[in-house]
Amino acid sequence: MLLIQDFDLSSATTFHLPARARWMAEYDSVDQLRSILADSQFATMKRLHIGAGSNLLFTKSFDGLVLHSAMKGMSTVADDGESVIIRAESGIVWDDFVQHCVDSNLYGAENLSYIPGEVGASAVQNIGAYGVEVKDLIVKVEALDTFTSGMVTFTADECRYGYRDSLFKRPDLAGRYIITAVHYRLWHTPRYTLDYGPLKELREVTYLTPATVRNRVIEIRRSKLPEPSELGSAGSFFKNPVIDKSMWRHIQSSYPEAPHYDVDDNLVKVPAGWLIETSGLKGAVEGGAMVYQRQCLVIVNTGNATSDDVVKLYRRVQATVYDRFGIMLSPEVNVI
Ligand SMILES: Cc1cc2nc3c(=O)[nH]c(=O)nc-3n(C[C@H](O)[C@H](O)[C@H](O)COP(=O)(O)OP(=O)(O)OC[C@H]3O[C@@H](n4cnc5c(N)ncnc54)[C@H](O)[C@@H]3O)c2cc1C
Repeated sequence: MLLIQDFDLSSATTFHLPARARWMAEYDSVDQLRSILADSQFATMKRLHIGAGSNLLFTKSFDGLVLHSAMKGMSTVADDGESVIIRAESGIVWDDFVQHCVDSNLYGAENLSYIPGEVGASAVQNIGAYGVEVKDLIVKVEALDTFTSGMVTFTADECRYGYRDSLFKRPDLAGRYIITAVHYRLWHTPRYTLDYGPLKELREVTYLTPATVRNRVIEIRRSKLPEPSELGSAGSFFKNPVIDKSMWRHIQSSYPEAPHYDVDDNLVKVPAGWLIETSGLKGAVEGGAMVYQRQCLVIVNTGNATSDDVVKLYRRVQATVYDRFGIMLSPEVNVI
């Protein structure tokens, strides 16, 4: 167990913005987690569980206890010949899990390669990329209920997954459940999802393997997204808005080439990056924060940004896009 007072959060988040936490506790087992929660010095303190901090924006220092899991166990708990179920503990780096699946010639996780973060948060965030969401793999989630100190299990249905959304994000439940392990189903036979533009070309490959898809995904991601170790960010800052068709037709009358995806007969998803770029915000700057030139959905820390800079910039983006399109972008990033 690791316990640090006055903890530097800038190294614990991929935005690398200056902020501190009153305490940080990292645990190696559920028993340690329970004992931290029961400790009288922390009992009344505000708490936040973090993973790799790749979707967090601390707007100021955190006057409370930041928790982190160092539990990294992984095992196959079922194999019926068609599919396997792997139980992975919350502190495993997500991409190490994907690498493990690919190395084991298991199908299903390859499109989610190279997404920063840890296993625990994958089940909170319902991470997704290139047509796949982690909810498609999740069978069940193990969590500690901080109200009762008992362990609970949620089926994928009970997790109420939506676009970057889950039960664990519900305001009335936020922070109540600490995810300790996730069970994922992977397949022994191909289950490729190759509908996304640059992945379509892989349909022509004769001997396609999950490793080929993974390598291509990593290549695409590296060309578009900043490497957190080189340029701070939290990935896509905003969610892609879903709007109704009448609003969409109005936008389309002025921008016939506007990209979009039909969600159903009534709803259309519009790429937030396109809305931001079309609003003239590519490269927009507030202090050390900038709208990333290669992908306007991302706000980067050019080196010396403060959280105030990021907040000012994201609010400016929201206001400008709203003025032009009547659409209010909502942050995908967890603003703390
Ligand atoms: C360059 C870059 C690219 C990205 N690309 C993508 C992408 O393609 N698709 C995508 O979906 N996301 C993407 N993201 C966002 C990010 O990778 C995901 O949201 C990821 O799941 C966050 O994981 P984390 O471990 O860093 O969680 P954190 O950011 O630390 O936390 C995220 C949330 O999960 C909660 N949480 C964390 N661990 C636990 C736990 N054990 N129990 C309960 N709650 C917990 C936190 O309280 C917080 O609410 C990207 C981010 C970056 C920086």
